[in-house]
Amino acid sequence: MQIPKEEKTYVMIKPDGVRKGLIGEIIRRMEQRDLKIVALEMFQPSREQMDKHYPKDEKWLRRIGERTQATYTKYDHDIKRDFGTADPLRVGKTVRKWLIDYMSSAPLVKMAVQGVHAVDMVRKIVGDTMPYLADMGTIRGDYSADSAISANIEHRAIFNLIHASETPQEARHEIEHWFGKKNIFKYKRFGIDE
Ligand code: GDP
Ligand code: MG
Repeated sequence: MQIPKEEKTYVMIKPDGVRKGLIGEIIRRMEQRDLKIVALEMFQPSREQMDKHYPKDEKWLRRIGERTQATYTKYDHDIKRDFGTADPLRVGKTVRKWLIDYMSSAPLVKMAVQGVHAVDMVRKIVGDTMPYLADMGTIRGDYSADSAISANIEHRAIFNLIHASETPQEARHEIEHWFGKKNIFKYKRFGIDE
C-alpha cells in the first residue's frame, strides 16, 4: 500500500553542528521520529556548489532582507550601520554571501531523509531559524543560542547548526543537486515499513 504523503527531504549539518559534535544526536532525533536516512555523507563543499544550493531569486533574497529588517526594528538597532543600506534586496544579498562563506568554510554532513510529511516533520525537529527563539526540545532550541543581531554585527550567517528544506520542491531540487538522481537508497525499517 502507498503510504500517504511519504516524501523525502534534504538535511545538512552545518559547520557549527559538526564542530559541536552533534552529528550523532541530530541523526538520532530524526530516526527516533520514524524518519529514515536514505543517503548520508560527510563532505567539503566548494563555493560554486554552495552558490547553486541557495536560491538567487528576488523573492528569496527579499524575504531574508525583510526578516533581517524586522529584527532590527524589533530590537531598535540601526540596520544601516551594519549593512550600509536598509534596502531588503541588498541586505538579502549580503546575508546570502555570508551564508556561502560560512557553509563552504568547513566539512558538512549531508543526508536525504524519508518519511511521512518528512519536510514538515524535519522542520519541526529542527526548530525556528533564530536559535534564541527556537522552542526547547528542537535541535536549534536545545543546542544553540545565536542571534541575528550578533551575527549581523560580526558579518556572518546565524549559526543554527542545521539546514533543512522548507518545501517538497526545494527538497527535490536540493537532493538532486547534492546526490544526483541515483544515490538514494531503498530499505525497509523494522516496525515502520513492515
Ligand atoms: P532556515 O530555512 O530556517 O535555515 O532559514 P532561511 O532559509 O530563512 O535562511 C537561511 C540561513 O540564512 C539561515 O539558516 C541562517 O543561517 C541565515 N540567516 C537567515 N536570516 C539571517 C539574518 O537575519 N542574519 C544573518 N546573519 N543570517 C541569517
Ligand atoms: Mg531555508
